[in-house]
Amino acid sequence: MSAPTLQTVMDLIEGRTDELVALTQDLIRFPTINPPGEAYRPCAEYIGERLKKRGFTVEYVRGEGSPGDSDQYPRTNVIARWTGSEPGPCVHFNSHIDVVEIGAGWTVDPFGGEVKDGRVYGRGACDMKGGLAASIIAVEALIDSGLSLPGALEISGTVDEESGGYGGVAYLAERGWFSEPRVNHVIIPEPLNVDRVCIGHRGVWWAEIETKGRIAHGSMPFLGDSAIRHMGAVMEEFESRLYPAMAARHSDMPVVPEGARQSTMNINSIHGGQAEGFDGLPAPCVADSSRMIIDRRFLIEETLEDVKGEVKAILDGLAAQRHGFRYEMRDLFQVAPSMADRDGPVASTTAAAIETVLGRKAQFVCSPGTYDQKHVDRIGKLKDCIAYGPGVLDLAHQPDEWVGIDDMTNSAKVMARAAYDLLTRKRG
Ligand SMILES: [Zn+2]
Repeated sequence: MSAPTLQTVMDLIEGRTDELVALTQDLIRFPTINPPGEAYRPCAEYIGERLKKRGFTVEYVRGEGSPGDSDQYPRTNVIARWTGSEPGPCVHFNSHIDVVEIGAGWTVDPFGGEVKDGRVYGRGACDMKGGLAASIIAVEALIDSGLSLPGALEISGTVDEESGGYGGVAYLAERGWFSEPRVNHVIIPEPLNVDRVCIGHRGVWWAEIETKGRIAHGSMPFLGDSAIRHMGAVMEEFESRLYPAMAARHSDMPVVPEGARQSTMNINSIHGGQAEGFDGLPAPCVADSSRMIIDRRFLIEETLEDVKGEVKAILDGLAAQRHGFRYEMRDLFQVAPSMADRDGPVASTTAAAIETVLGRKAQFVCSPGTYDQKHVDRIGKLKDCIAYGPGVLDLAHQPDEWVGIDDMTNSAKVMARAAYDLLTRKRG
């Protein structure tokens, strides 16, 4: 028998397509809906038991005290580590096991794992149980090939990514699981398409703006002061000044889709006056409060301070000019933008592997929204982290979500090649 090569690994992965599909189906059949965090523990244990049989050291870490953690809904994470023949770097594959709610419009069982026309269907198929399964098959094939591997390979299944990752990657990163020297390179198999390497994401700032008024009888509004009209003035300023200013800013971040390659702001909600949800007639009152929630996404070229300052300047300007204008602004959530070096080890080896496996050049992209890379970067202080996985980005969170079987096989090959190169490359 000839000595094993990387081709041995590729052949093993190709031969395990049925196993890859079955593994994806099994993972989809755990209805790990978040919130509330259903079936986390059995799903984590399923992954742990599989990898334990293959010689991994398996640990379960519950995100105790993190948002939503309870005995009914424990935030159970699993981390499995396989140690090679001699010392070396550690390549870690991190996947979130939680999925979002089902939503309407499904034509297949969301937790059935149905296979049809070369696709596996189900909630989480694309985001991101297909990616998790591909990474498991990739790592197992590397180990089983008989290639001599230095260093260590890790696979984690973590919780709560869809709700911020506080009981998952953030919790683990705070305890050293995502820092050197334990881990050196991280690949997160999020669905960014099989030929794209995602090197980072834009920043986020969520805030609530409240305008204040004074209640009065609706037939004599001049005796009160309408918080809704004040909010209207805020909207006008946003339309005439903020949106054009944001649209004029362009980024070196290769964000996809292209519409997100600039600063954006969504107005999540506006409420003012009487509460909704009552069937009867309203009473005539001038609104004494109006609240708006904004979701501002920003670029690596902007600072959070400037982003907040820009909105605050508009509100302060109104307070100076507009009679009776008073406001409060509250931060709800914020994440700094993150961008890894595309020439760094994990990005460049993954791009090279894409070219070898798929025969086309890899595209470097950034994600419009955030994912767990933010915690690896900010808390773990580990910069060599990317997202790379088989799912189609646009299908995430949609009804009839699916992942392509060919894409999973190809991405498993890419992951195995990249991991091998990272473990064996000459280190500077
Ligand atoms: Zn995801």
